[in-house]
Amino acid sequence: MSTASPLVDQFRRRITYLRLSVTDRCDLRCAYCMPERMTFLPRKDVLTLDELHDLSLGFIARGVTKLRLTGGEPLVRRDMIELVHALGRKLGDGLEELTLTTNGTRLAEFAEALVAAGVRRINVSLDTLDRAMFHKLTRRDSLPQVLEGLAAAKAAGLRVKLNTVALKDLNQAEIPELVGWAHGQGFDVTLIEVMPLGEVEEDRFDHYLPLSDVRADLERRWTLDPSTHRTGGPARYFDVAETGGRLGLITPLTQNFCEGCNRLRVTATGQLYACLGGNEKVDLRAALRSENPATALDAALDTAMRIKPERHHFAIDRRGEQPALSRHMSMTGG
Ligand code: SAM
Ligand code: SF4
Repeated sequence: MSTASPLVDQFRRRITYLRLSVTDRCDLRCAYCMPERMTFLPRKDVLTLDELHDLSLGFIARGVTKLRLTGGEPLVRRDMIELVHALGRKLGDGLEELTLTTNGTRLAEFAEALVAAGVRRINVSLDTLDRAMFHKLTRRDSLPQVLEGLAAAKAAGLRVKLNTVALKDLNQAEIPELVGWAHGQGFDVTLIEVMPLGEVEEDRFDHYLPLSDVRADLERRWTLDPSTHRTGGPARYFDVAETGGRLGLITPLTQNFCEGCNRLRVTATGQLYACLGGNEKVDLRAALRSENPATALDAALDTAMRIKPERHHFAIDRRGEQPALSRHMSMTGG
């Protein structure tokens, strides 16, 4: 088998996008994402910097052009910037885009270093502009740091997209204001429905808010023009005529978005998940720690192409039922 063959799955989808989790640890505790007393992975199980680097190069050699570093919170990993710098050297040499998803708490410290490494765009997760609500949702009083981080990102020239989970009775009433504020700052916004991933203390169904409701609310104020913008991901985009900004809607429970899926996810321990909504996986750490890592990694990626499912298997999250998948979003990074 040619080691340089592109990654194409059995449904003829070309895989060009990797989301790589660099840590499962986080400095926030968003209530929908993880419990307060989250059990983190033993450090020895987490990929080393060199392993993350080699793994990324293996994917790039097989045609991955877009790499998103995520977590947990990627910027809490100590050697993260070193990794970003090392991967930044592949930009223009196979890699077209290097980006990350962050909660923003440490952006003020790292925004300029990210730009220096070649990062041009980042996603920042922010569900509210209200300090008390932020504290309630994340169990940490860190809104000022996040706002400082966003300002630093903007000043450093990073393009920012906000990811906002829509939560009934929590940030619901505030969403139009949040979108208006973000567009005023020059940030795009993508709204996300809460997904049944991993046990948390609360029943997520209590705060499940269909984005069709949010859209109807926004359309009472603004004109949402369907946009031609596509990323191969689950979001549908709209241009908001009045604000001049872009709005994305991700509705995993109510829409099917799998047909054009171009992505794979790898956890911080090197487990490749072929689908965010499925359990099909391949152990890339075993490949990386084997005697012949390059060959083993290629073989593992070929396996991934065989097992990537046609569509996700999220069940609609019903009150009191077990989550559809037992792993938390902080494992696969969303
Ligand atoms: N810590 C970083 C952050 O918050 O941006 C990166 C990892 S976080 C797991 C990635 C995204 O997943 C965030 O935008 C977060 O809001 C979202 N997320 C986490 N758990 C979720 C859930 N159960 N349903 C929907 N989105 C979730
Ligand atoms: Fe941490 Fe991101 Fe999960 Fe919030 S959503 S707890 S910031 S990993």
